[in-house]
Amino acid sequence: MNATPLTPTPLTPTPLTLIGLGPMGHAMATALLDKGHQVTLWNRTASRADDLVERGATLAASPEEAIAANELVILSLTDYDAMYSVLEPAAATLPGRVIVNLSSDTPKKAREAASWAAGHGAAHLTGGVLAPPHGIGKPESSTFYSGPHEAYAKHRATLEVLTGETDYRGEDPGLAALMYQLNMVIFWTSVSSYWYAIALAKANGLSAADILPYASQNMTGMPEFLSFYSARIDADNHEGDVDRLAMGLASMEHVVHTHTDSGVDAALPSAVADLFRRGMEAGHAKDSFSSIVELLGTR
Ligand code: NDP
Repeated sequence: MNATPLTPTPLTPTPLTLIGLGPMGHAMATALLDKGHQVTLWNRTASRADDLVERGATLAASPEEAIAANELVILSLTDYDAMYSVLEPAAATLPGRVIVNLSSDTPKKAREAASWAAGHGAAHLTGGVLAPPHGIGKPESSTFYSGPHEAYAKHRATLEVLTGETDYRGEDPGLAALMYQLNMVIFWTSVSSYWYAIALAKANGLSAADILPYASQNMTGMPEFLSFYSARIDADNHEGDVDRLAMGLASMEHVVHTHTDSGVDAALPSAVADLFRRGMEAGHAKDSFSSIVELLGTR
């Protein structure tokens, strides 16, 4: 399914419950209060709600009281285990509730949670927020959703307060978690490559600021690279006409040696070199780098 259009849905402030006041939940509560919603809060560490209560939020004494207060219950917890810790003792209050779970976890756990919620008479909408706390409340930020469309459509206007874009992926509660984790593997590994580049720069007397323009230019070039490979990968074309894995391995070994010569940890580049070596051993020396995708899928 395509991303929903950017046109914001008209908003009538809806009373709602928000459970979890880490950096994300706190930013969400702030954005909702800014838009005039009546927000009932619960957090394990109650003091995190102090400034929000001063701004008009209601702090519930227990998860039961928080859930009983409203049909719409937004969760922003560390993971789904935390969700069960909070919701299981309060399960009697769940019938008729729409739980919008913006906690990160696996597609499998999201599907299990949706079944668990349904068994207690509640709808479970999975969310994967593609924004840091300072992106909450911004029109350009986006969240993946999946689960019952009826629940999404009913609460979409409120969810658009959290991130201006809501990308509904379908009824399968695992899909939003899957899309989120796909983005997380790209984010965490890319940003880790940046930490490695900075460590190498610093070991050679350069600062993060010195390499910023070059690191940024490198990242800015990625979309063209990705669209070239994605078309070929979907056509099962790993022809080594413009690149070869053998060249990739030689290049990665230069990277590893530059790190070790500089006294810098080489774990991440070494892992990439090992992956390329496995590709070579599997007979892909003359194929494109993209043949690595085949290798990953057959583990
Ligand atoms: P935190 O882990 O800092 O905060 C999590 C919240 O979960 C806190 O309110 C914490 O309560 C509560 N919690 C954790 N374990 C339990 C438990 N066993 N019982 C009750 N409450 C519990 O996370 P963030 O606020 O940073 O993020 C929330 C979710 O959003 C996470 O799943 C994260 O992966 C995801 N996310 C985060 C982003 C970010 O940039 N921070 C960006 C996009 C998604 P207490 O205050 O008492 O510790």
